[in-house]
Amino acid sequence: MAQLAPGTRLRCYGEVRLGGNGLEIVHPQYQRLAEDEIGGVEASLTPIYPTTEGLGQKRLAGVVARALDRLPPVDELELIPADLLAPLGIADLRQALLTVHRPPPDVDRDLLASGIHPAQRRLAFEELLAQNLILKRLRARIRSQTAPRLAGAGRLRAALIERLPFRLTGAQRRVDGEIQADLGRTQPMLRLVQGDVGSGKTIVAALAALGAVEAGQQAAVMAPTELLAEQHLRAFRGWLEPLGVTPVWLGGKVTGKARAAALEAVASGSPLVIGTHALMQEGVRFARLGLAIIDEQHRFGVHQRLALRDKGRTAGHVPHQLVMTATPIPRTLAMTQYADLDVSVIDELPPGRTPVQTVAISDARRHEVVERIRAACTDGRQAYWVCTLIEESGQLEAQAAEVAHAELTAALPGLRVGLVHGRLKPAEKARAMQAFAAGELQVLVATTVIEVGVDVPNASLMVIENAERLGLAQLHQLRGRVGRGSRASSCVLLYRPPLGALARARLDTMRETCDGFRIAEQDLRLRGPGEVLGTRQTGQIELRVADVVRDAGLLPDVHRMADRLAETAPDRVERLIERWVGGAARYAGA
Ligand code: ADP
Ligand code: MG
Repeated sequence: MAQLAPGTRLRCYGEVRLGGNGLEIVHPQYQRLAEDEIGGVEASLTPIYPTTEGLGQKRLAGVVARALDRLPPVDELELIPADLLAPLGIADLRQALLTVHRPPPDVDRDLLASGIHPAQRRLAFEELLAQNLILKRLRARIRSQTAPRLAGAGRLRAALIERLPFRLTGAQRRVDGEIQADLGRTQPMLRLVQGDVGSGKTIVAALAALGAVEAGQQAAVMAPTELLAEQHLRAFRGWLEPLGVTPVWLGGKVTGKARAAALEAVASGSPLVIGTHALMQEGVRFARLGLAIIDEQHRFGVHQRLALRDKGRTAGHVPHQLVMTATPIPRTLAMTQYADLDVSVIDELPPGRTPVQTVAISDARRHEVVERIRAACTDGRQAYWVCTLIEESGQLEAQAAEVAHAELTAALPGLRVGLVHGRLKPAEKARAMQAFAAGELQVLVATTVIEVGVDVPNASLMVIENAERLGLAQLHQLRGRVGRGSRASSCVLLYRPPLGALARARLDTMRETCDGFRIAEQDLRLRGPGEVLGTRQTGQIELRVADVVRDAGLLPDVHRMADRLAETAPDRVERLIERWVGGAARYAGA
């Protein structure tokens, strides 16, 4: 290689290691220096870009260099008006781009490496701004439509509250009040109710639905799984049938004549319908949908949320929307990803709940755990045994559950052990769930089908197999199935050693706290926001430069700037969105 002839001066970049012949760098990036270039100190530091197969460092650096040479002058490039930019004390865009790509030799490298150099902050600021603008636009579009005013006499609502076996918590009453205020307006409500697992969101949904019914409109409740939708059906029946309101059931397995009858009921104005995704299917027509309630909204995408709204669109009207989630969304994320929704938080658990005692135990001590179940169940308690697999294979998971079921049935003579998994017929699943809820089964072996929403307050022991493989959000959801009654509950996280560092960190977090917000913050730190929200699934916008945790401090200024720009420079709003979001902006028009 002529380039590497002895005597040639090179500048190399790579990881220096101690090899057989002294120090070595395997496959370094290198650059030939001219004869007279001694030491080779350049005008700027050399950035290292994340590359990919087929696009090497040199090519990428070359492309970037050409782009930088063509950067328009600052007044053409800058979309944030100077008088708004100046008070923030951040760099202009041109300066920021030049600094990150050609950092001057005396740049503060620590700041740069941590992603908080003013030049990087500037880019993050603009990206967050663009994202905020697009959500504001989506929101403005929805708000410009009209929804029916849902202000009934409140007689049914009062009767329901009167008949409840418990008193609503202060937080439930407050959130209910916020919803009622929204429903009384002709602007469509877009409200997210956030409440940790077990905080009592279902009754809040029922009260909202009843508000719509009292105003002569229809309400629809959609849940992400059959199991959860059926549970809602039972709860709503129990609460509402005594008041003369009978829910129509529209699950995925409703077919034939039953389906035709359900569709007919919905089309002719039955006040309340409960179901799954089936609610959004073709053929479902509402006579006058006034309120769409979506439970566990993180399981649905933005698109599905919009689809149910579109179902309810009638001449000039859209329904109000209420979405509920137990996945606590850290505030910083809520402000970026959900800026199109108003947020209500149920930040109080019903009285008498005690935190779930959580331990992590190696699978080698499985027999001790089985003993523990025997002791608890003999004492009148009930237990879940959850089989989980990392692969989303319902079949393997179901098999694992069948094996565990056989094992526990053999190990626990005298106790009744039930089984639910996704491969069972809906009727079988419902039977097992009901038997467990009624206390006829002491142990329920289940797959993650019970992850979301399942409510059996007497169950106070939960065992989660392969806990080391699950994410924090899922562990928290699963654990949320216990600790719902007044009894002290416990959760055993069974793991297979050795534990990796991340898995160890997750299990430690679970042992330390039951607070969903703290768990979500930790999750965000361990995994990053895209994963937490399931970006791909929900069609949320991904951030390229900004990091909602690192750059959270920018958000208040971002919000103020977005408002000012919308008022004073609508053309710049368009260009900012186009620059950062481009084609993805289309979803906002949905
Ligand atoms: P989540 O917020 O997880 O959906 P649920 O609505 O399933 O919670 O409620 C959990 C349990 O708490 C249910 O059994 C419900 O009946 C009960 N519950 C709800 N609100 C209260 C309250 N204010 N006082 C006592 N129990 C309540
Ligand atoms: Mg729920």
